[in-house]
Parts: sequence; structure tokens; C-alpha cells
Amino acid sequence: MNAEDRRSRVAQWLRPALLAQHAYPVTPAEGLIKLDAMENPYPWPAALIDEWLQCLRQVPVNRYPDAACAAVKNALRAAWNVPHELSMILGNGSDELIQLLAIAFSGAQRTMLAPDPSFVLYRMAAEALDMHYVSVPLADDFALDVEAMLAAIERRKPALVFVAYPNNPTGNLFDEADIREIVQAAPGLVVLDEAYYPFAGKSFLEEIDNYPNLVVLRTLSKMGFAGLRLGVLLAHPEWGSEFEKLRLPYNISSLTQTTVEFALRHLRVFDEQAAAIRDAREQLRAALGELPGLQVYASAANFLLVRTPPALGDLHAGLREQGVLVKNLHGMYRTTPNCLRISVGTADENAALVTAIHNLLSAA
Ligand SMILES: *Cc1c(COP(=O)(O)O)cnc(C)c1O
Repeated sequence: MNAEDRRSRVAQWLRPALLAQHAYPVTPAEGLIKLDAMENPYPWPAALIDEWLQCLRQVPVNRYPDAACAAVKNALRAAWNVPHELSMILGNGSDELIQLLAIAFSGAQRTMLAPDPSFVLYRMAAEALDMHYVSVPLADDFALDVEAMLAAIERRKPALVFVAYPNNPTGNLFDEADIREIVQAAPGLVVLDEAYYPFAGKSFLEEIDNYPNLVVLRTLSKMGFAGLRLGVLLAHPEWGSEFEKLRLPYNISSLTQTTVEFALRHLRVFDEQAAAIRDAREQLRAALGELPGLQVYASAANFLLVRTPPALGDLHAGLREQGVLVKNLHGMYRTTPNCLRISVGTADENAALVTAIHNLLSAA
């Protein structure tokens, strides 16, 4: 009836873990050069858009989508050379699959473990489902601290371990031998999150067979389809058929299914865009590296982690005033003071970013 009444019922009935959480923050980017979310900066060629719209005309939106997503799965299998014996579980973005995994493993006294810093959604998914979340700090150079990981695995017996490969927000690929040690030591499931696979080209997909407890998570978002929302979990059917029970039956819309199937027929366009982004990343890394006081870390993804001189103050806010939106990592993680995460944009966007930082450095 009134707000007070609603508030007291919310406090009484919702799970305390949910009440303690904050919603995932998305910063409005209207009118800004958007370099905060690892999107592909290139639009589709006009001819491709025309052809795509022809495909969309055929979509029977009055009907439910194909619940099995058969055509999309075939296209993905071919594009990624997915071994036929592996199951594919599709999600509305890999975010949804992270949540699905957390639901599958949740329960009293269950633990999720991941390095820190890493993708924030692991922690959010764990906390929302009352799982314990254990984060193990990376070494100063952002390599895995294997000793600390193994000790935490031994002590906490995590049901789920997430490792992003390359890691977000640091951009580096962890040492393969380190990852194998972790998979071997983990009693539960290890999820290798390969969101940046199009830029890294490295994968543990071929190694799934070697372990009873390894699955690979991928997404189409970073390669150019962030708006479509399609994530893919690749797993042996012993795991996959159980996860499939949790997937909501029509979670992938018919517009997404048709579009992905179409886009994967033109994979070369997007492979070329990924190659252009990798080249631009190295150019941007060199250009930023020439600015005084900036430390730019090596990246196998489509973004760069940059440490700025503390004396410069809030560079994130300064950049925003100059029309460039990047991600501020200052205060987010213990190991990332004065750090920014910058997505690789078009040549013009990258140049505008470098100029803006240059201006702020000159004014300081
Ligand atoms: C961006 C990102 C995701 C989420 O991708 P969506 O498929 O768009 O939900 C998952 N994992 C990592 C490591 C990411 O950086």
C-alpha cells in the first residue's frame, strides 16, 4: 500500500545475499567515444546489412524460436571446429551461462574460486546464490600465483573455479602449465572463460578430453555481436546434459539465431575485423607507451590495461570531460590502483584517446 510497507516486506522476504548486492553498473555513454566495454568498433559493411535484412524477413516471430538452436549450433561447430562429441549449451550472452553454472553448483557451503582481479560477474553470480566466493590475488605481473591458487583449492575445495583466458581486466594469457596444474588440483569443475578467443587464438578446447573437470566458455560478444547476446558453453555431455536442464527453453531469440547463422556464413568479414583490432591494439600500445609515465601492459585481448602516474589524479574523469569513456579500475581491485582498462577502437577513436591523454598530461 505504501512504500514503508513494501520496504519492510522486501527486507523480510528477500534473501539477505541479494539485499546486500549492487546491480552491475553500466555507465551511460551517450555522445562519448565508447572504449569501456570491449565492443568491436566496426559496423557491418552496407551490403552485408542488406543481405541480413532479407534473412530477417523470413523469421516467423509469431512462433517460438527453435529450442534446440540446431542451425546455430551447426554453424558454431563448423566455425570453431568443435569436436562432435562435445555438447554446446547456449546462453543469452555468456553472462547467463555464468549464472547458470552458479545455479547448478550453488548450495549451502559451496565455494566458487577465481583469481583477482578477474571478471566481476563471477563474484556477483556466486554472491547472489549464497555461494562463498574466494578470490586469489594474481602476482604483481598479473600471472597466476599458482602456489596460492593450489593452497586455496586444497583448503576451500571449490565446487567451481573460473579462469578467464585471456584475463579481464588484465588482458594477459596465463601460463598454460599453471592452468593445467589448477585443473588437476581442483576437485570440482574448472571453467576456462575464453571470451577473448578471437583475439588470442589460444584455447583449451583441445584439452577438454584430458580432464574430467574442464569446460570452455565462449561468447560472440567481443568478436562483434555484443548486441545479439550469444554465449556458448562447451562441455562433455555428462556435464552438458545436466546444465541443459537449467537452460530456459527459449532463451535464444529467433532474431539472434537467424542473425548468428547468417553472420557465421560471413565469418571472414569478422575474422578480418578481429585481425584489424589486433593490429590497432599493438599500435595503440606503442602510442600510449610513448606518453611519459604511462605503463601499458601486454594484451592478448581487444583492450589494454594502463597504469597512470598517481600524481595525475583522476584520469578517468579527465578523459570523460574530453569525450572519451574508458573503464576506471582504480579502487576496484587491490592490484589495480591508478589503472584504466581501455578497449581498442577504430583508428580515429584511438587517436582521439591518445590526444586526450596527451592533453591531460601536458596540463598536469
Ligand atoms: C565480456 C566477458 C564476458 C561476458 O560476455 P557476454 O557473452 O557478453 O555476456 C564473459 N567473460 C569475460 C571474461 C568477459 O570479459
